[in-house]
Amino acid sequence: MKIIKPTFVIESPIDGNQILQQIERAGRTAYKSEDKITPTSALTFAKMITQSGHFSVIEHYSVTVRVICDRGVSHEIVRHRLASYTQESTRYCNYTKGKFDAEIAVIAPCFWDAGDERYTVWKQAMAQCEQAYQQLIALGATPQEARSVLPNSLKTEMVMTMNLREWRVFFTMRTAAAAHPQMREIAQPLLREFRQRIPIIFDDITY
Ligand SMILES: Cc1cc2nc3c(=O)[nH]c(=O)nc-3n(C[C@H](O)[C@H](O)[C@H](O)COP(=O)(O)OP(=O)(O)OC[C@H]3O[C@@H](n4cnc5c(N)ncnc54)[C@H](O)[C@@H]3O)c2cc1C
Repeated sequence: MKIIKPTFVIESPIDGNQILQQIERAGRTAYKSEDKITPTSALTFAKMITQSGHFSVIEHYSVTVRVICDRGVSHEIVRHRLASYTQESTRYCNYTKGKFDAEIAVIAPCFWDAGDERYTVWKQAMAQCEQAYQQLIALGATPQEARSVLPNSLKTEMVMTMNLREWRVFFTMRTAAAAHPQMREIAQPLLREFRQRIPIIFDDITY
């Protein structure tokens, strides 16, 4: 059994200035004010758009992110409906095969340290799930049958694509104090990376 940390990779090529210019070109169609476009006007325009809540304009750009998290967190992520997803399938992946090193991978809970007794109980439970899964496969069960004993902590990998408006919804809800700690563990650094790479659009989201 592998115990790993959650991770993400932004897979879209991102040029923040180019994105703002694209948004400005789209947005200025509304006012037919394309003549006001200058080498620096996209920043000011993006500020105006976010401050006025004219968010339909930022729907013109989408970003794809690959996320590795547990199945509990992925189940919450896919509740965001204005998005496209492709996710590792527990129906088709057979974790007893060599390409998985014949073991399951689970995501370490961020709220318990390895020395904590609760972590020990969790780790034992994960090992029992893995053992039951391997036994079921050895007894002729298919992966889609044997997955019944796989835990919420099972590692999953998903590719998700959202437009910038939906990313704002996602970050606002999933970085907040009310969100699950393992969701925040991904959403907060992801938001920081979005902010570094795309000016203005996400700056007002507080968490
Ligand atoms: C802290 C927290 C706790 C939660 N707890 C639970 C829980 O206990 N049980 C549970 O089932 N879910 C729970 N959820 C999930 C939550 O109810 C939403 O399903 C999820 O956050 C997706 O958000 P959303 O539906 O607003 O937006 P998205 O699906 O991301 O859509 C974005 C926005 O588009 C609009 N939109 C999308 N679809 C429609 C539509 N059909 N009609 C009108 N407008 C639409 C809305 O404005 C929406 O906010 C929780 C979420 C959070 C953040």
